[in-house]
Amino acid sequence: MSKAYPITDHTYDCVVVGAGGAGLRATFGMTKAGLKTACITKVFPTRSHTVAAQGGIGAALGNMDEDNWKWHMYDTVKGSDWLGDQDAIEYMCKNAVAAVHELEHFGVPFSRNEDGKIYQRPFGGHMKNFGETPVPRACAAADRTGHAILHTLYQQSMRHDAEFFVEYIALDLIMDDEGVCRGVMAWNLEDGTLHRFRAQKTVMASGGYGRTYFSCTSAHTCTGDGHGMVARAGLPLQDMEFVQFHPTGIYGAGVLITEGARGEGGYLTNKNGERFMERYAPNAKDLASRDVVSRAMTVEILEGRGVGEKGDHINLHLEHLGPDILAERLPGISESSKVFANVDLTREPIPVIPTAHYNMGGIPTNIHGEVLRPTADDPEAVCPGLMAIGEAACVSVHGANRLGTNSLLDIVVFGRAAAIRARDTLKAGAEQKPLPAGNADKILDRFDALRNANGSKPTSVIRDEMQQTMQRNVAVFRDDKILTEGRDSIDAIKASQSDIAITDRSLIWNSDLVEALELENLLSCAQATVHGALNRTESRGAHARDDYPDRNDDEWMKHTVTWQEPDNSVKINYRPVHTWTLTDEVEYVVPKARVY
Ligand SMILES: Cc1cc2nc3c(=O)[nH]c(=O)nc-3n(C[C@H](O)[C@H](O)[C@H](O)COP(=O)(O)OP(=O)(O)OC[C@H]3O[C@@H](n4cnc5c(N)ncnc54)[C@H](O)[C@@H]3O)c2cc1C
Repeated sequence: MSKAYPITDHTYDCVVVGAGGAGLRATFGMTKAGLKTACITKVFPTRSHTVAAQGGIGAALGNMDEDNWKWHMYDTVKGSDWLGDQDAIEYMCKNAVAAVHELEHFGVPFSRNEDGKIYQRPFGGHMKNFGETPVPRACAAADRTGHAILHTLYQQSMRHDAEFFVEYIALDLIMDDEGVCRGVMAWNLEDGTLHRFRAQKTVMASGGYGRTYFSCTSAHTCTGDGHGMVARAGLPLQDMEFVQFHPTGIYGAGVLITEGARGEGGYLTNKNGERFMERYAPNAKDLASRDVVSRAMTVEILEGRGVGEKGDHINLHLEHLGPDILAERLPGISESSKVFANVDLTREPIPVIPTAHYNMGGIPTNIHGEVLRPTADDPEAVCPGLMAIGEAACVSVHGANRLGTNSLLDIVVFGRAAAIRARDTLKAGAEQKPLPAGNADKILDRFDALRNANGSKPTSVIRDEMQQTMQRNVAVFRDDKILTEGRDSIDAIKASQSDIAITDRSLIWNSDLVEALELENLLSCAQATVHGALNRTESRGAHARDDYPDRNDDEWMKHTVTWQEPDNSVKINYRPVHTWTLTDEVEYVVPKARVY
């Protein structure tokens, strides 16, 4: 097959797939260390989803009130519902202050407090004195923190002469016979050429997989490509059942409506016009915690009280607040509602739905960004040549539930850690063994088969089936029946990929083929998510089951590890939560009930 597709060869010390915050931080860190580094990205770097982050990046700077990184660590462990690896959390929180100061020196235009220091605002779950009272810890650049960070990191990458391959879509990892990752194959969308990147280290920084769901806050590009490549290479994914949902994404568009809308007096109704939250949370009502509200909305929809033609969403009312309050306190939301739902907030409710927001699970790594390939004898064994960072990875600092502001922190801290590891373990320009014969064949066979697929189902149909199933069966409301249905359905939808129809055969700007490639990756993620969720018979963090309402530390304080088998089935295993390399600066945070 490789003869039909001429390949352009490249050799680098490091190749990074992804130019979001994680990928860029690693790229220029590696370049700065003298390593010849390429960064491949399917969208222009500053269009990566990191650009959409608003609220802030968490670090215990103590600029507004007394703070301590050990409190930040405690909050993160508690937020993770004790599934996070405490040594990884220690590393992240300890390095947070320096990471934010480093961003400041790189040029991030943070907002300022009256003393001229970086401005910090409070965020859910961030407290002082080991969980006592809220503390402002989110370092913010207005409500455009991700935008500011991403642009700054891109400028730094330019300054350090990193080499970019923009609008190249990575297809698959090149693995040798000894199971070492030797690089990655990519397709240049602009001219249709295929490129083989050989490298000492390949870094997956490809972001999350929010698009497995019908409604998500993530960009259309968040399709779990890194997860799919890793799964196809016979490597595992970890803790994929933990998906964070926000109650109020705009129906259809997924754009986030901030919790502040309900804070200002907004409320939810079902198709009977009933304020149903009064039944589920008599005290806090519409302002109960995110998982409680999301679950109540889902029950209403499942029991036939959803609004709209398909009865599949809920109304959020703000019209009673009046035009003045809306203009003064919620101008951004007013604009988003107009643009994305064609709704005038002063007159009518916004259609909303619990919306997938963040993936806690991903490619398992150690704190150096090295990808794990755990075996029964060695749960810490690494896959040589391969790294993963950012939302694509599971290191695991977020465990079963991520605290707001901790993801921007994760991407810069572990992007930097991966660069440090590469600097310390690689020799610039070191001779690389020739690649094994036929290394590209399997990858190109798959690419060619998909390009010429002439089944009966367009990509959009299969994708819609997957997204609807995930939204209905693997969202906030989970029990054995609903998850079993979801698993059977996702397994069947995944198998139906063999009947996919591609109509565009060209190699240039073929969005039909791009979407089909992305769908294959999404389906790998969907399958790992539903199988992991069905198997985990407890409630922990974002994984809340009605039939097992309690956390069960005796049986379930362990990470789910899933493998995609060649016959389309999923193998599940578990590995212990990692805590044993805590330094003596901190103490193990003993598990207890998670109450706020
Ligand atoms: C609306 C929204 C608001 C948020 N707000 C906050 C916040 O306030 N604070 C916070 O801490 N977190 C927030 N988050 C979460 C946080 O922004 C993300 O988790 C984080 O930015 C992910 O960064 P990343 O570098 O891992 O991936 P991304 O920024 O998603 O980048 C992925 C990169 O991979 C590339 N890529 C993917 N597949 C391929 C392929 N096959 N070939 C080549 N390139 C590929 C893409 O081109 C892109 O460059 C928010 C998320 C959303 C969606």
